[in-house]
Amino acid sequence: MRPKIKKDSIKETSPKSSRPTQSRKATQTALLSHNTLSEKSAPHNVNKALAGSSKQLSAESQLTFDHSHFLQQLAQWFSTAQRDLPWREPENAHDPYRILVSEVMLQQTTVTAVGPFYRRFLARFPTVQSLAAAPLNEVLTYWAGLGYYQRARNLHACAQAVVAKHGGVFPRNLEAVLALPGIGRYTAGAVTSIAFDAPTPIVDANVARVFSRLFCLEGDLKAPASQRRLWQEAENLIGHCTGAAKHNADCRPSVINPALMELGALICTPRQPQCPFCPVETFCAARAAGRENELPHATPKPAVIELQDVCAFAARCGADGQEEILLRQRPHDAKIWWRGMWELPRTTLQPGESSQDALHRLLHDELGIEGSIGNHLKTLQHGVTHHSITLDCWAVEVSDNTELGGANEPSPAQWHNWDELSQLAIPSTMRRLLTWLKSHPVPNEQLSLL
Ligand code: SF4
Repeated sequence: MRPKIKKDSIKETSPKSSRPTQSRKATQTALLSHNTLSEKSAPHNVNKALAGSSKQLSAESQLTFDHSHFLQQLAQWFSTAQRDLPWREPENAHDPYRILVSEVMLQQTTVTAVGPFYRRFLARFPTVQSLAAAPLNEVLTYWAGLGYYQRARNLHACAQAVVAKHGGVFPRNLEAVLALPGIGRYTAGAVTSIAFDAPTPIVDANVARVFSRLFCLEGDLKAPASQRRLWQEAENLIGHCTGAAKHNADCRPSVINPALMELGALICTPRQPQCPFCPVETFCAARAAGRENELPHATPKPAVIELQDVCAFAARCGADGQEEILLRQRPHDAKIWWRGMWELPRTTLQPGESSQDALHRLLHDELGIEGSIGNHLKTLQHGVTHHSITLDCWAVEVSDNTELGGANEPSPAQWHNWDELSQLAIPSTMRRLLTWLKSHPVPNEQLSLL
């Protein structure tokens, strides 16, 4: 079984658990698992059909989906069950810029992990103007540890566009928001619905899972047809907010969209959904059919690609007596990971190449410096998207009078003392390696020539 790769993490990978499957009564499945979309037939309010403790569906039940009732049940549950999260605090909850920051950070990253980064980021960039005015390198520094750094670049570009094109006032119009750099349909829907109560739909992984069970959706949820169906359901539901709000002020888009996501995060979880505690259990086709543990179907994952990388750790005594280490900035313009960020000089082994050969290529051909390879210092295992990377760090000795910068090297290496590292945008795995190296000084004998 292939390991599940965690982005930019040096933790050991863990085997993927198989999703438990179980099925209830075939008659219920036959009754409820059809996959049509019309409001008349697809969603099922089985409230009246659930009788006694078994809550089994009767064939005579009226299979209609009462959107207003659904919204009220969901909103009522959310009012008491929602978690206290930084982006729900009063000063953040309806500020479109702060909502945008949280939504971008939460893409690909867990709520628990995002919290401290969110607070630190907003303490430094409290407004869209402050983010727009900051240098990208500083933004990346504050993003380091969250991974997927393209999100930070997009957020920075988006802030600059809001300032340049909208005078620093976040646009309320969905099309105008979608025209901002790096803003997709989900993010635009989240910002406009939560900040401005616009009836804009959202579909993230949580909402997709909830809908797949509510409506018994078959197949790969990432497939285009499934995506169309999910967005159609989301649009249909949020479109009923206005009507429902006449009777219940909490049934607003700024409540319903977060409530749907919260339902997926807390109750309708990927494994073993907590159906007896679900506020919309009686609307759920998968629950009625006994298929809540079966849906959604697992999305095929791309094959894991194994990479072997080496990096060079070179240190010297600087002019001021402080120890300096050799770092290189990755190119800005290439379509590579960690664009524009700093690292120990690093390369990926080519087919048939040994670590020593790769280090010689790195030092001589790429950096244009004369260096001597010493001992192996450390191995880290980490993942980026579906790549599993083994990174070996080697001690390297570079003579003090070596001129840095090779003819073919777009971003030459530079010497930096340890204090300067806090000002540089460094990928989290590399920063952990540097932290380890700082606390494990390399003995001189390890720098001796091989
Ligand atoms: S009843 Fe169960 S499967 Fe259906 S939406 Fe609620 S938690 Fe999810």
